[in-house]
Amino acid sequence: MKGKVAVVTGAASGIGAATARRLSDAGASVVVVDVDGEGAQKVAAELPGPALAVGADVSHEEDVERYIQAALEKFGRIDLHHLNAGITGPFVELPDLGVDEFDHVMGVNLRGPFLGLRAAFRHYRERGTGGAIVLTASIASLRGSHDLLAYQTSKHGVLGLLRGAAMYGGPMGVRVNAVAPGLVPTGLFTAAKDASGGGNDMLQRGTTVPLRRTGTPDEIAAVVAFLLSDDAAYVHGEVVSVDGGSAIV
Ligand code: NAD
Repeated sequence: MKGKVAVVTGAASGIGAATARRLSDAGASVVVVDVDGEGAQKVAAELPGPALAVGADVSHEEDVERYIQAALEKFGRIDLHHLNAGITGPFVELPDLGVDEFDHVMGVNLRGPFLGLRAAFRHYRERGTGGAIVLTASIASLRGSHDLLAYQTSKHGVLGLLRGAAMYGGPMGVRVNAVAPGLVPTGLFTAAKDASGGGNDMLQRGTTVPLRRTGTPDEIAAVVAFLLSDDAAYVHGEVVSVDGGSAIV
């Protein structure tokens, strides 16, 4: 990763913060992007290598342009992207899901990575060299739940973005892959558990993880770092589950 510049969104906590740390440990310069600007500053300040924090909402076009510009001004190039920022959805059954609730989740979890991909590809196209991108999907990209419609729909959509971007990016040497984490105790996970009142089937199935435990942010980050590295030079358009075997239950 030496000499590489990486952007990580949703990097003020959880999986994104762990990726920022991994990439920095491996020698990359890291742009820590999060709607929680203070949290992003804190993470950036603790990284061992060059870092920049940008407070930005990934669902806003102008914020995405701003984090790209800030990265280019500071480091002159961007090689790697982990488009990871996400929120959980309301735990309500389909007839009770509000349009605003649906749109809010889709805005962050789907328009966010779309805007991130578009900005990344505009840069790669202009620069004419390759790069690598990892999207954060979810076990919810692969299965259904009776009361988590907005979240699971947004995460299914991430696989659409993945496949379209991989088809477009392959010929220009830009690899695009996704990780699909299982249950990882982070802020988002706790919010999901609290909001569901214990009745969500996807979270309940989490209690039968074949490895009999939840994951850690760093276990997800390890796979993200691999997918962004040259060790994964022939891995493209792939969704890698990192879930203790949950996807087979
Ligand atoms: P987290 O809450 O610790 O981290 C998410 C980060 O994204 C936070 O720092 C938050 O401030 C930031 N964020 C939220 N909305 C944003 C926005 N509009 N713009 C910019 N930043 C924003 O949770 P996490 O578990 O680390 O989540 C990271 C990703 O992993 C998400 O996409 C989530 O859907 C996915 N995921 C998590 C789990 C899990 O069990 N934790 C499982 C599957 C997928």
